[in-house]
Amino acid sequence: MFDKILIANRGEIALRVIRACSEMGIASVAVHSTADSDAMHVRMADESICIGPPPSTVSYLHMPAILSACEITGAQAIHPGYGFLSENAQFVQMVEDHGLTFIGPRAEHIRLMGDKITAKETAKSLGIPVVPGSEGGVADIDTARRVAAEIGYPVIIKATAGGGGRGMKVALDDAALEVAFRTARSEAKAAFGNDEVYIEKYLQRPRHIEIQVFGDGRGGAVHLGERDCSLQRRHQKVLEEAPGPAITQEQRDRIGGICADAIARLQYAGAGTIEFLFEDGEFYFIEMNTRLQVEHPVTEAIYGVDLVREQILVAAGQGMSLRQEDLSIRGHAIEARINAERLPNFAPSPGRVSQYHAPGGLGVRMDSAVYDGYVIPPYYDSLIGKLIVHGRDRDEALARMRRALGELIIDGVDTTVPLFDRLLRDPEIQRGDYSIHWLERWLAENMG
Ligand code: ADP
Repeated sequence: MFDKILIANRGEIALRVIRACSEMGIASVAVHSTADSDAMHVRMADESICIGPPPSTVSYLHMPAILSACEITGAQAIHPGYGFLSENAQFVQMVEDHGLTFIGPRAEHIRLMGDKITAKETAKSLGIPVVPGSEGGVADIDTARRVAAEIGYPVIIKATAGGGGRGMKVALDDAALEVAFRTARSEAKAAFGNDEVYIEKYLQRPRHIEIQVFGDGRGGAVHLGERDCSLQRRHQKVLEEAPGPAITQEQRDRIGGICADAIARLQYAGAGTIEFLFEDGEFYFIEMNTRLQVEHPVTEAIYGVDLVREQILVAAGQGMSLRQEDLSIRGHAIEARINAERLPNFAPSPGRVSQYHAPGGLGVRMDSAVYDGYVIPPYYDSLIGKLIVHGRDRDEALARMRRALGELIIDGVDTTVPLFDRLLRDPEIQRGDYSIHWLERWLAENMG
């Protein structure tokens, strides 16, 4: 086992990894920018080291600085968290070239899933159902027309190099296709430096269902069911739950089995998430994330496992402790992403948190790096906490979420807490009856 792990991240996810290290008797090293000198992850780690100025391009994304920090502190492995360098194949290669261990999948698997067309082709070849669409990239409008006519309107044009919900355009009919095609290409070029796009059938009322998978890197793999992440704003997840209110045990076993099988055949190592759109009982692959997800705690809650611990075990060559036959669901979990944002426009709201009190009690987990007097810097994302509740069933989890939100105090900055207060009172949310388009409509009607 490693003696010391460096965490190439900040905020709540850095704390999450430090906690796992601490329970496993492993020393932790925090890295930080000059804007984060007083951050909680710096205080909580066994050691810390400054890696650069505030902008992430010259700190948390600066590979030589992170590798030097390992060298100086003697850390043997790097946990990337999510975001930043977590899905950067070049970084993984550099880490290995320096004789260090990357806690995550191999570079080849990150590369395979990083390009969306290759990812989709790989998924298809492994027996995973995909959204009907073009075979690979679509280079000109005539091909686009032919593909769209074949699969039927509406269609969505997506950037091969896409991510973060950018570079996607919907065309409702043939008349709208040309403009959508050209706009998607120029936006893709501007955002990712690559104008290749592909076409998919646009699903009108799907849910976003993602399957948590875990591989030991040697052909062993399990799945840990699904998370429903349909509540999205601008393709960004707002609230997640597990199990999915619309998924039956039979559907879970079927798609979970297909995913675990695929991961085993790839000899994939560590945590991964296979994302699907789900409509009329069918699953359609959209992409795979080769890292720990923000919303992993809802899965941890209902399966009673520590996913970060498993990541570390696999990276250290000790194999995973998860066996499919031991994995069963207990109860229901919901996560609310608390952002420092001002409603109704969700404008970033950095600044000083004058008072902070985390909720507690049975079935409540607050993953946050905020404290009394903490100054939220303007340089990074606006996530300041994740409130995760676990109950015996969905109704109990919903009641617990309302209760916990009532206990939470974050003064001094605007947050998205009032959004959840209102959202949880909605009858459709209470019934679990929503698609990926539900929240945008609700926001327009209720907060516009
Ligand atoms: P990104 O990597 O940019 O997040 P994804 O392919 O994961 O892109 O898609 C993000 C979101 O866009 C999905 O969660 C869904 O809301 C929407 N979306 C993507 N593909 C389709 C599709 N074929 N039909 C309907 N909505 C889609």
